[in-house]
Amino acid sequence: MSLYGVRDALLGGRRAIALTGAGISVESGVPDFRSPGGLWERFPPEEYATIDAFRADPTRFWRFYLELARTVAGASPNAGHLALARLEQLGALAAVITQNVDGLHQAAGSREVLELHGAADALVCLACEARRRERIAALTGPPRCVCGEVMKPDVVLFGEALPLDTLARAQDLAERCDVCLVIGTSAEVYPAASIPERAFAAGATLCELNLESTSLTHSGRVRWIVQGAASVTLVRLAELVDDARRQQPDPRAPGERAAGRC
Ligand SMILES: [Zn+2]
Repeated sequence: MSLYGVRDALLGGRRAIALTGAGISVESGVPDFRSPGGLWERFPPEEYATIDAFRADPTRFWRFYLELARTVAGASPNAGHLALARLEQLGALAAVITQNVDGLHQAAGSREVLELHGAADALVCLACEARRRERIAALTGPPRCVCGEVMKPDVVLFGEALPLDTLARAQDLAERCDVCLVIGTSAEVYPAASIPERAFAAGATLCELNLESTSLTHSGRVRWIVQGAASVTLVRLAELVDDARRQQPDPRAPGERAAGRC
């Protein structure tokens, strides 16, 4: 069974990373906006969720964005998020690189989390670069910076570049890992797609845990493919790693492979 293959890869590896996407948060009630009936149907992202739309009319942008924020508010980590945090605690996972902006990995207890697309509860001012954290779902209108400008959610909008320092750190991790889990994402969109690519090029074992087949499944690069809900497969994976560790403790110092060393 492929899950045992993933377990053995984690147990035999020295530094494992996970790339996660929308699929891991669906069971937390965070909708996939691209699905039929999703938010993108009423608010086409190429019209609303772009940096140009924000610059052209920040007030209109915030009417759309507050509705998005309210659909995401109240979501809590699911068993899949918790299992990834458990794998980190067990020293079997060095970092989570996520395309999600929902903060649920951190809420679940993961400590080394790289947010490629920013964080949904953060604001940035494009005029003076001031940043602050704020519960966006509680806002009643566009938030203003102390300088007077309307602030932008500190997430990557269409047409914007990813935060370069975070991307550079993520790509560096990918090049130095020996196991790369791809979870709840088809990993088709660049530059996130470069994470498994770089890991594979560096000789890492790629493992895909998705509900359905993706282009990655058929790429010929994936060593282990596990299909099913992330909450189910990750919980089982964490159990298997935990069991194996109990039977055969890691000979290296505790925490040697844990977050912070990568
Ligand atoms: Zn400002």
